[in-house]
Amino acid sequence: MVIAAPQLKEALDYVKAELNDDNPYVVYPSPQGVLISQEVIETLSHHDNVVIICGHYEGIDERFTEKYVDLEVSIGDCVLTGGEIPAMLIADAMSRLVPGVVGKTKAVIEDSFYRGMLDNPNYTRPSEWEGLGVPEVLTGGNEKEISRWRRREAVRRTLTRRPDLISRASIREYLSGVNVAVFAGNGNFNPAGIAEICRAYGAGRPYIIAVNQELRETMKKLCPEAKISGSIRRLQESLGENTLTVKVTGTPRRNSLHSLEAKRKCLENEGGILFLFSEDDGELEDVAGITGYLFENDSDLPMAVKIGIALDRFLGKR
Ligand code: SAM
Repeated sequence: MVIAAPQLKEALDYVKAELNDDNPYVVYPSPQGVLISQEVIETLSHHDNVVIICGHYEGIDERFTEKYVDLEVSIGDCVLTGGEIPAMLIADAMSRLVPGVVGKTKAVIEDSFYRGMLDNPNYTRPSEWEGLGVPEVLTGGNEKEISRWRRREAVRRTLTRRPDLISRASIREYLSGVNVAVFAGNGNFNPAGIAEICRAYGAGRPYIIAVNQELRETMKKLCPEAKISGSIRRLQESLGENTLTVKVTGTPRRNSLHSLEAKRKCLENEGGILFLFSEDDGELEDVAGITGYLFENDSDLPMAVKIGIALDRFLGKR
């Protein structure tokens, strides 16, 4: 048995009239749809009206789907008897994004997937239950320590349970700091543009590594906002041991990591990142750190664009 198109059309027309909306967004829960995710829910929540068509039996007439359905959504790789439970699931997840439905907006932001990562484990009273205690830091009352613990646990959970999520997560707030350094080379890049990109991604003022005095003077004039350093090693020392240097290259090199793997390593490090760029990959060779590559071929891209892409992969909001 298949639900017929004319009856579905009649039902849809009735709902449109009730809503006084000729163009609501029509969703059909179906095992053949795109897999549900927080991103799908967020997208749906930006429509004024969403109409959910619940299938049953073998499903609904394909011609109705072709003509009137905007999005088919699956709740997972299993088959249910009808679309009612998926419809409730979609409505519930969407309603949590409506301000006021969940008492504290902060609670929604801290939940799993909102920032692309899993939530930290949660505890409440009593502090001792069936021989199990609550992590000491949570009862100590030090808010800073508690926030740090939460971030660390969220990272651990995501890395061990759902490492696949890391690719779409912004990891900015799981890092103790982010810095960008560029070898000056012949100065053939746009330092002001780089500074602007760093600011946009919360990476602080960029460093320019200029090995001789003349270059340092030129760079200072070109980009008053940048911090000039005479040596990369000195810069690494000043940022401290828990800052991982990620040498960003275009094409893959020996021992280099795909940018997603590099991103995971940065989270495992539980510290900060120093992104290091150079027009000449040879310059990066002897610098301590890991090498992450971003593209198959980047030779024509201006430095500011490369930096923008790297920062967006690691720190961009999904
Ligand atoms: N013949 C369909 C197929 O194999 O793709 C399955 C039909 S299913 C038994 C009946 C209805 O349940 C579907 O029309 C759909 O609305 C709903 N449904 C079943 N599994 C679903 C899933 N994983 N996600 C969303 N909706 C589902």
